[in-house]
Amino acid sequence: MSVITDSAAQFEFVVDVLIIGGGACGLTAALAASDGGAQVLVLERDKVPLGTTAMSTGLIPAAATRIQREAGIEDDAELFANDLLRKSKGTADADYVRSVCTEATETIDWLSEKHSVPFSLFEAGGALPGHSRSRLHGTPSRTGEELIASLLSAAENAGADVMTSALVSDLIADGSGRVTGVVIDRPDGSQERVGCCTLVLATCGFAGNAQMVADNIPELAGIMAHTHPGATGDALRWGVALGAESADLGSYQGHGNVAAGHGLLLSWLSVSEGGFQVSAHGERFSDESRGYSEQAVDVGAQPDGFAWTIYDARIDEIMSEISEYRELRNARAMVQADTIEELAVAIRVPIEALTQTMADIEKLAQSGEADGFGRIFHADKVLKAPFFAAKVNPALFHTQGGLVVDQNARVIGLDDDPLPNLFAGGGAARGLSGAGASGYVAGNGLMSATTLGKLAGRAAASQALAENSESAS
Ligand SMILES: Cc1cc2nc3c(=O)[nH]c(=O)nc-3n(C[C@H](O)[C@H](O)[C@H](O)COP(=O)(O)OP(=O)(O)OC[C@H]3O[C@@H](n4cnc5c(N)ncnc54)[C@H](O)[C@@H]3O)c2cc1C
Repeated sequence: MSVITDSAAQFEFVVDVLIIGGGACGLTAALAASDGGAQVLVLERDKVPLGTTAMSTGLIPAAATRIQREAGIEDDAELFANDLLRKSKGTADADYVRSVCTEATETIDWLSEKHSVPFSLFEAGGALPGHSRSRLHGTPSRTGEELIASLLSAAENAGADVMTSALVSDLIADGSGRVTGVVIDRPDGSQERVGCCTLVLATCGFAGNAQMVADNIPELAGIMAHTHPGATGDALRWGVALGAESADLGSYQGHGNVAAGHGLLLSWLSVSEGGFQVSAHGERFSDESRGYSEQAVDVGAQPDGFAWTIYDARIDEIMSEISEYRELRNARAMVQADTIEELAVAIRVPIEALTQTMADIEKLAQSGEADGFGRIFHADKVLKAPFFAAKVNPALFHTQGGLVVDQNARVIGLDDDPLPNLFAGGGAARGLSGAGASGYVAGNGLMSATTLGKLAGRAAASQALAENSESAS
């Protein structure tokens, strides 16, 4: 994965906009660039474009969309941006966050109205940490697979070509740092060289590269990476080799609620709707209401690196809207019991400790006082029998640090000027979460993928078409 400097490179063919990566970012960029009238080629290393996107619940936040307005929810981009900035404790770049939050509205309206991506509002999403409004949009099954399938068919219908089993190994640049094309490794061992006028990097972050994780996020060294194997940090390495600036490399989306032995996410609604987590000793160990991302480190610090997430039948019903949860139900990934004592026996934690934990929570909910960790329990959400428990592990889902981009998703160099023809979005670009784990808010990943993808595709197309017409005249 390197950048080859070769001003005389020859290519089999040259396209206006070349996009590396067929996840949400790459396919949204392809759609936007095709809409803009450019000839577009997406290169995807896998046989089928899936990416981290297909592993996700496919939920994308945006404020004041047509769908949100029709649901009668009052919201706006400023309120949304302030939610994100608060969660990042002021460590995120405020102008950048505001501009992406503002653009996200049009992204959802454009995808749903012009390209028939079947979004609806995930009403329960307002309960997820960080969001002061219900603003997560998803396709009917609430799966990333369905989202990526919708984006792929929209991109192809718009005229974009997608080449699969096409692993980009190297970029080719001229002496000025302008990318002129790429080298593609094919499964039969052959190589192809494709030229481009503009290039969009949409290869996600580096969660699948254990060395890069250990170097940039030491607190997660050795943690399970529940991510796509293609997230090996290619965009970041190429960008840096071309002189790009990077930021927030210690930032990530972790999760403290991956069902043990199943590798499936137990929605954080299990906790944010009133549930809690205990260790094998039956005791709580943190303020779970801060968010699921920062909870990864806390769960990992418990004996044997796991926790039990305790919730009830009301929450089970709320989560039944999520297909991944229904899968967990079918796989009997949770234990159900009529009393908290029976639950303790079933999951083999000390009965006294778990009943005391439950009694403490009921008392706190009545008083409205925060517990020793800082969490406030609400009386209307105190768990009631029957109770459920699921054993969970921590994981790293995706990294949030990456290449610094401007408001058109152009990659910025160390001298603060944009690189000649390079764009990036999604996990390849700097995220919206600031530094560390605590800034991640549900949807920051896909919002960056779709909105920066859209901006990158539009700007890359417009630059390519302008340069083509200049050279023709
Ligand atoms: C379990 C889970 C749940 C999640 N839930 C949500 C959620 O509900 N909402 C949300 O906003 N975010 C969620 N996320 C995060 C979200 O999935 C990512 O932020 C988002 O999918 C990133 O999109 P992307 O297009 O940048 O990357 P990807 O979807 O990973 O696409 C990148 C593509 O590039 C390809 N690629 C990489 N290198 C090369 C190369 N050298 N040559 C050719 N192709 C290459 C990869 O194969 C891949 O297909 C979740 C993540 C996980 C793991």
